[in-house]
Amino acid sequence: MPDNDEKKGYYTTTYKIRLYTNNLEYLKLTNQIYNEIVHKYYDLLFDNMELLKLSNQNCLRELEKLTIIGKTGEKPKNYFEQNAPLYLRRAAINNAIGQVRAYLGLLEKSKNNPNVNTPSRTTEFNCSMLFYKGMYKDLENGKVKFKLFNGEKWKWFDAKFKDWNIPKEDEILSPTIVIKKDYVMVHIPVKKIVNDVTPIKIRMKNENIRVCGIAFSNSDKFAICVVLDDKGKFIKSLFVSGGDEYRNRTHQIIGKIKKHKKKDWHYAEKDHKNYWIKLHRISEYYAHNVSREIVNFCTENKVQVISVADLKDLSTKFGKKVGKYSPIYLRKKIIEYMKYKAFKESIIVTTVRSNYTANRCYKCRGKIKRNGLVSICENGHKADYFFNSAMNIGIMCLKKFGKNVDN
Ligand SMILES: [Zn+2]
Repeated sequence: MPDNDEKKGYYTTTYKIRLYTNNLEYLKLTNQIYNEIVHKYYDLLFDNMELLKLSNQNCLRELEKLTIIGKTGEKPKNYFEQNAPLYLRRAAINNAIGQVRAYLGLLEKSKNNPNVNTPSRTTEFNCSMLFYKGMYKDLENGKVKFKLFNGEKWKWFDAKFKDWNIPKEDEILSPTIVIKKDYVMVHIPVKKIVNDVTPIKIRMKNENIRVCGIAFSNSDKFAICVVLDDKGKFIKSLFVSGGDEYRNRTHQIIGKIKKHKKKDWHYAEKDHKNYWIKLHRISEYYAHNVSREIVNFCTENKVQVISVADLKDLSTKFGKKVGKYSPIYLRKKIIEYMKYKAFKESIIVTTVRSNYTANRCYKCRGKIKRNGLVSICENGHKADYFFNSAMNIGIMCLKKFGKNVDN
């Protein structure tokens, strides 16, 4: 049996918070020093390209050897005066390494692909500074201290932020300060624990496993979810509605775009852009809400595995047939967001082949006939058409992992 720690996993999420400080000038000065150092190492790397064959950590070490006075007290070949703490320098070097690697990646791409422009080397640096441990401290609810240069020396300065409480048990990673024109933001990445990342095969051996089968539809119901136990016995269902509302909202906008096409072109072009942005936003909104509703339902009902039909069978014709902004077309995005949200709640999303999930009766495997939203099988079983599909998707998942399903 794996112990508890082995079951745990992590993901990182970044909080972006407004920072309040009376020392904006020192922040700017520190940021300027940081960028000057990034610039130096960036140029130095171009003169020492062989160092890029090393890992980032070793590359950093070699660059330090080239520029910093070591134990012998001798000035190395590329020594340059830098008045900055060690951890600022290291953050700057890592930034430079990242930028040169990105440049070389693009250069390589541009050689092989005529559509990619040849990149040019950066000459002006305006990076946001990453504060490693040693450059920040005492980060707690509402407060933090940063080490900044005040024109004479490096000192600790207070800063404040509002509306964010550090989540317990989470590990705080190095923050970045982003200086905007009129305000300052701090981006704080946080490593969060996922309690259970047990692989699906091991998970499915559990006798108390609960699986949620989900069917997606082009009706008012975006998704139809059924929770099943280990024997395939039905426990609970959820019908996530809003499909018609989504369809109406997007169709109104598409109607406007079509109308505008006939108008003066340069007005139309600008309006089009806004309409496409609107369409995108509405789609994002529904995909997030629907996936959130499903994951909440699964968490409340102690589901550990979600099963959906494999999307590979969907042809490109499908979009043309149903319309790109129809509820069923949003399914891909809903599943994508659902996977991400489910993972955070220790739930795994898996797929089953979509054959027969819609045209067989979940009770007796008999062929079904569809009558509107109702399905009737050859042996007389009646059910909601999509409920039947969802049941099949859940049952198929249980069978796939060797479960003895009652029917
Ligand atoms: Zn039947």
